[in-house]
This record gives sequence, structure tokens and C-alpha cells, in this order.
Amino acid sequence: MTKTLEKVQTTDQLPESTTVVIIGGGIVGVTAALTLAERNIPVVLIEKGHIAGEQSSRNLGWIRKTSRHADDVPLALAADKLWAEMPERIGKEVGYKQAGIMFLAKTEEQVAMHEAWLKSVDSLSLDSKMLSTKEIDESVPGGKGDWAGGIYTPSDGRAEPSIAASAIAQAAINKGAVIIQHCAVRTLSTTGGKVSGVVTEKGEIRCEQVLLAGGAWSRRFLGNLGVSLPTLPLVCSVVRTKPMDGPTDIAVGGPDFSFRKHQDGGFIITQRSALDAPLTLDHLLIGWRYLSQLKAQHSFLRPSLGKAFMQDLGLARRWKANQLSPFEKVRVNDPAANPSLNQEALTNLCNAWPVFNNAEIDEEWAGVIDVTPDSNPVIDKIQAIPGLTIATGFSGHGFGTGPAAGQLAADLVSGAEPIIDPSPYRFDRL
Ligand SMILES: Cc1cc2nc3c(=O)[nH]c(=O)nc-3n(C[C@H](O)[C@H](O)[C@H](O)COP(=O)(O)OP(=O)(O)OC[C@H]3O[C@@H](n4cnc5c(N)ncnc54)[C@H](O)[C@@H]3O)c2cc1C
Repeated sequence: MTKTLEKVQTTDQLPESTTVVIIGGGIVGVTAALTLAERNIPVVLIEKGHIAGEQSSRNLGWIRKTSRHADDVPLALAADKLWAEMPERIGKEVGYKQAGIMFLAKTEEQVAMHEAWLKSVDSLSLDSKMLSTKEIDESVPGGKGDWAGGIYTPSDGRAEPSIAASAIAQAAINKGAVIIQHCAVRTLSTTGGKVSGVVTEKGEIRCEQVLLAGGAWSRRFLGNLGVSLPTLPLVCSVVRTKPMDGPTDIAVGGPDFSFRKHQDGGFIITQRSALDAPLTLDHLLIGWRYLSQLKAQHSFLRPSLGKAFMQDLGLARRWKANQLSPFEKVRVNDPAANPSLNQEALTNLCNAWPVFNNAEIDEEWAGVIDVTPDSNPVIDKIQAIPGLTIATGFSGHGFGTGPAAGQLAADLVSGAEPIIDPSPYRFDRL
């Protein structure tokens, strides 16, 4: 995890009851808590580790509409507005800047892929446009790459994962939400089949509604309740450089690298064409549901069978409310960064923009991404357990949409008019 993550001071006092309990203090959970607190709905957020300890502080900070599935773009547009308004709403900076995002294509096939995406969002009036090689060279000077073209969306941007969720959590507390860290929710308590509370490692909280925003842990939490949510873990490694002069403020994704400026003047870099896939039992159980994704993206995956498989086997899949849960055993999922992938990213980037030969690495980290079979999240009520709503499975692109996803989840929980049509995120589509 990045050493720059801002920590949040919270209480240890577990309330006896509330209206809504949120499980998980990532970007989705904290924005849902903020929204509910602003609506004067009593809310308690429980986090097993610390706020933004997992994906929400480890991500690249890209806020994009580019390359999203057309059905996912309305959520991204709603999030753009919420990100822009966030500093005023919470009285703190979140590092948001509409600096644009550009994806580069090396081959005509990659150009055609970007063109096909642009066509798929034709009716949405986005500001995305195809770029010629000349336009790329002009926007990002000093390059040596041999690009066939690219796509650029000026209204895309970035925020700083090391401060955003923490600042939002602090604002939620200021507006009346209770947040408890270092406390795992083991399971739900139900009365007459309906949610009536949560059982945490420190005791029970009675409530009317629960929102599960548990990231990569949601599948295990739901599995214990007999609900099967298909998500598989992938691991993405990241490099942060020390402050340096770079070629542009635009976030740039090449075929096998990406970079974007960090607020301290350094760059966040990753190997865009490679993700580690440490195999677990779940890959055997539900891997078949990912066959079409695998066909298109198998060259991106670096599978391995080893420590992660054994560690995962060591975590319970079924447990009772009075037993230690997997969430207490792994407070913060902190996979090791893959130095060879990070080195590949740096080498590929230096070949494309030699100015990065001056880059000095400040830190490296990795994070586990929760991927659904269609790479879109689930934001829905669980019909089998009245009172339970889930917002999870963000498949590696949920930081950008986080504020709108959290608000949508809060809308569903509180019965308010949803911020966008929630139907693309139905659970039963999976
Ligand atoms: C390396 C990397 C790069 C990425 N880059 C981008 C990007 O550039 N742009 C983008 O939009 N997205 C990106 N993503 C994806 C993005 O970070 C996630 O989609 C998003 O942060 C998910 O937020 P979340 O709140 O659902 O989950 P998380 O941030 O993972 O939060 C879930 C929280 O729930 C807690 N929890 C789980 N179970 C329990 C329990 N039983 N009791 C208590 N607490 C519990 C966990 O401890 C965790 O803190 C990236 C992800 C990674 C790892």
C-alpha cells in the first residue's frame, strides 16, 4: 500500500443499533456513508482493516469514460460531476483534475478497437475523439513510439487514491456517520428471514438495512450466506516515481505501459498489458464463467499456482457468527508487488518517452482486483435476503465511478430516486 495514504481517526465505540450498516470502507462504502449521513439517515460503516486499505488507495487514480462499456458510461458521467463537486461538498481536496486520458494504439487492429468503442457510445455525446500520430506527438512531446493512432477524452481525469476515500470518510463522520476500523463483520443476523443486524468480531449491531461494499471479500461474505457472487481476483502492480519532469499532464495508456501524474509531481506507472493471476480454488469453481473474457484477454494474464492457492485454502468458506472469520485473519490484503512487471512497464515507457529514463522509484505496491464475468459491478438488492444490498465487483475500474456507485447504493438502500438507471448493475444478469 502507498506510504502516502492518509489515515482517518475513528471511534472504537460500537453502537447497539442504527438504521444502515455498511460493510467496507473503500471508495464505494465511504461515499454511500456520506450520502446517507447527508440525508440524516443513521449509518455505521465497519471496516476490518483501515479506510481505503485495499483497492481504494492502491489504484492508479484514473477517472475515465474512455473504453467503458456503453451501459457503464452514465455512472461514469454522474461520477465526473460528483468528483468535481467533492471538494466543496466535503471541504477538502481529493486531488481531482480533469486533465484528460489518452489511449495509444500500436497496430491498426488496436486503432479499430478504439474506433469500435467510439461508435458504441455514439449516442452518449462524449467528447472522446480519435487522434492521429501527429496529434499524439503534439500533445505528448518527446516521444519515440511508433503509434498508429490513439483515442483521447479531454473530460476524463484523475483523483488521488491516497487522500480521496479518507477525506470522504472524514466528511461522513463530520456529517453524523459512525465509522469503526479494525473490526470485521462476520455475518448478518436475520429475523424472520430479513436482515436485523450484523455480527462483528466486537459484538452485534441491530439495523434495518445492510450495504455490502466489501470489494474482493464480498464473494466470501455472501458465500457464507448461501449467495453465489461470481468474482475472481487479479493482482495489479504499481510504481510511484519521485517528483520529475514528465511529458504531459494527460494520463496516457500505451499498449504495455501507462502513466499519470501524481499530485506531488511524480508519476504512477503500471504494465497495462499484464496482470498477475495467482490461482485459487475459485478459479477452478467458477473459471468457466470467464471463458469469453479469457478468449479476448488471455495474453494479459500471468497465471501462477503457489502460495496464494494455499493461503486461500486456509481461509474458511463457511463459518458461524461465533467463529473467527476470514476477515479477521486478513485485516488488509497486501499482495507483494511484482518487480519484473514493474520493470517491464518502466522499460516499455522509457522506450516510448525517454524522459522517463530519469525516473527514480519512490515506492511499489500491488492490489487485488475483484473481477466479475462481464467486468461490470453489481449494485442491487439481494432478493433472497430482504434488507441486504450489495455494491461490489468493480472489476478494476471502480475508483472513477466510486462516488456515483456509492450514491446509487445509498439510493437503493434508502428508497430514494436512483442517481442513474440501476438496471445495468442487476445481480440476476450474472
Ligand atoms: C492496482 C490497481 C489499480 C487500479 N486502477 C484503477 C483506476 O485507475 N481507476 C479506477 O476507476 N479503478 C481502478 N482500480 C479499481 C478500483 O481501485 C476499485 O474498483 C475500487 O477501489 C473498489 O472500491 P470498493 O470500495 O468496492 O473496494 P475496496 O477499496 O477494496 O474496499 C472494500 C473494503 O471492504 C473491507 N471489507 C471487506 N469485507 C469486510 C468485512 N467482512 N468486514 C469489514 N470490512 C470488510 C475491506 O477491508 C476493504 O477495505 C484499480 C485497482 C487496483 C488494485
